[in-house]
Amino acid sequence: MQAEVEADEVHKSYGETVALNGVSLSVEDGEVFALVGPNGAGKTTLVRCLTGTARPTSGEARLLGVPPEETDKTTISVLPQEFSPPERLTPEELVEYYASLYPAEATRDTEAVIYEMGLTPSRDKRYADLSGGQKSRLKVAVSLVNDPDVLFLDEPTTGIDPEGREDVWRVVERLADEGTTVFLTTHYMREVERLADRVALLSQGRLVEVGETEEVVRKHAGEPRLVVRTVGSADEALETLDTSGALGDGTAGVTTEDDGALVFEGVAVDRIGDALGSLAEAGVEYDEVRWREPGLEEAYLRLTGKTVETSGTSGTEETKTGTEVQE
Ligand code: ADP
Repeated sequence: MQAEVEADEVHKSYGETVALNGVSLSVEDGEVFALVGPNGAGKTTLVRCLTGTARPTSGEARLLGVPPEETDKTTISVLPQEFSPPERLTPEELVEYYASLYPAEATRDTEAVIYEMGLTPSRDKRYADLSGGQKSRLKVAVSLVNDPDVLFLDEPTTGIDPEGREDVWRVVERLADEGTTVFLTTHYMREVERLADRVALLSQGRLVEVGETEEVVRKHAGEPRLVVRTVGSADEALETLDTSGALGDGTAGVTTEDDGALVFEGVAVDRIGDALGSLAEAGVEYDEVRWREPGLEEAYLRLTGKTVETSGTSGTEETKTGTEVQE
């Protein structure tokens, strides 16, 4: 299979700021590939290097087999994070306008694009009057007018409401089913877990892991945990459990948290009943039970010592206020 998007040891610096520090990756035809990292990690810079709007300081990017500047622009599409259409235009006008920028033979039927994005009922409303979800779908619609083989979506759901996010996810799922290669950047882990075949975790301009999403979670996220809030002291409850022998093979995988909760490490979902049964047998009372299967956020945290979502939900402006450097 041909790699459609490739980075080979891509470095990019803006003056003193090292935005990318040797990134190599390769995205195959038809994949949904997610690039994940908090604000400032270098996601947009990598998209710009891969699509030819920024040049790597060193290393090489290739898009559809050639340097991005040489790629036939009718075959790719980029939805940049900051894309903000004119407020007074309607979906119909916007889709038609963007379609007119391509040769007629390279564009899709604009009616069909509007229909597929669920925008037919709002086709004559001004952009300013659309709901968040409609605005997001319209932006994606605009990026589809040339029926791209490769679509870059840079944080397509940042700052939009849950309904809008769900809308965009459904669109991406459909594109994936139809075989479009999608390169998605995001700091929403649920977005990755839902959409991506493979994920690359980016931290401070370096990739710390690349792999199938489920595999990355399995390898790095750790074991599922059952947290049981005890009515009395959790330390005493642990002792009671130990002396009662209710757990059979001892309490090696059980710890306490702030003396208020027992934590059972490595409890798969079908073993929750066993763990709670042992508490009943030992006569330990509890009033709350939480079970959580760790996901991509835990994997990122374990690999980098940092979270993606909490450090990525605010401060967009703050992290981008470094000196702007001319390309
Ligand atoms: P992300 O998309 O993950 O938020 P960016 O690629 O936007 O990350 O930024 C990576 C780093 O490069 C940040 O430290 C940012 O401030 C810096 N940076 C990005 N673009 C520029 C630019 N044009 N001039 C100067 N610094 C920049």
